[in-house]
Amino acid sequence: MAADDHGLAGVCFRQRCQGSGGAIGQLLEALAGRSGDPCVGQLWASLHPTCLDDAVSNAFDEHVMALLARLSSRGSDAMVWKELWDELYHQYPSDVACAAVPELAAIAADGAPSDRFEAVQLAGALLAKADPYTAEIRERYAGHIATLLREAQVELAENSPEDNHDPTSFVLRVQAVLAFEDATIWSEQLIGLLDEEFEIICPACWAAMDLYLGERGFFTCTGGYPPETVTRRPLVASHPDELTGLGHRLHRLAAAARQHTLARQLTYLFGRGTCTENGHQFIPADSVVELWTS
Ligand SMILES: [Zn+2]
Repeated sequence: MAADDHGLAGVCFRQRCQGSGGAIGQLLEALAGRSGDPCVGQLWASLHPTCLDDAVSNAFDEHVMALLARLSSRGSDAMVWKELWDELYHQYPSDVACAAVPELAAIAADGAPSDRFEAVQLAGALLAKADPYTAEIRERYAGHIATLLREAQVELAENSPEDNHDPTSFVLRVQAVLAFEDATIWSEQLIGLLDEEFEIICPACWAAMDLYLGERGFFTCTGGYPPETVTRRPLVASHPDELTGLGHRLHRLAAAARQHTLARQLTYLFGRGTCTENGHQFIPADSVVELWTS
């Protein structure tokens, strides 16, 4: 039985080891019948310094190395993904954590469907968290990021079984695509559409406001709670045919995926808003960018 059938270790790790020489490849075959043995993870962890890029083996402790080694093209334990998120996204500095991008790209290319989604999401989140200081990282891992982008685009193009099906996964996939393409605040902030609100700053006078896009209405308002009691100004939606640039692209993606609620929100996000303090007119999306880049 081939090593792939046993989920012995991370795809990328395995490919590197098998390509590095016969001895390690033979050891892999010897381990193939011991996939349920907890010692296998430890053995892999001990093997890694001999076959991994220095950037990877120097970046992570043994626990993370063992977790990465447990990723499998056959399907990975959900707890492995949870622990990887906890470690890489929450514990490690974002630029250091990006050393895992090659392993995640390998799973995105060859993993089981659910693992591909997890790999794309984690890699996208790591890049987005490290932005905007990722020029060197993006150059170093350009091929791997291209692989992740292709998988994210494939997932995004899958047919939706019904209108407004699983908007959370849709937004997360769009965020991942944006993260793999380049640094942008929308690779982390687009999720605000699901919460139906954003914090914003007027691009003209820097007045702090809130932006609502959902069941409570479509408006800007001064800070305070509840929003019904504070000064508010209605948003004006753009006609879809009037949208340009990112607004046009995101609306087109949402419409194609039958995410009609999100598509409507986007016509307001990329429509027109009014400053509650001084009456300035602005594109609401620009006021979100203003907050996160000022
Ligand atoms: Zn203003």
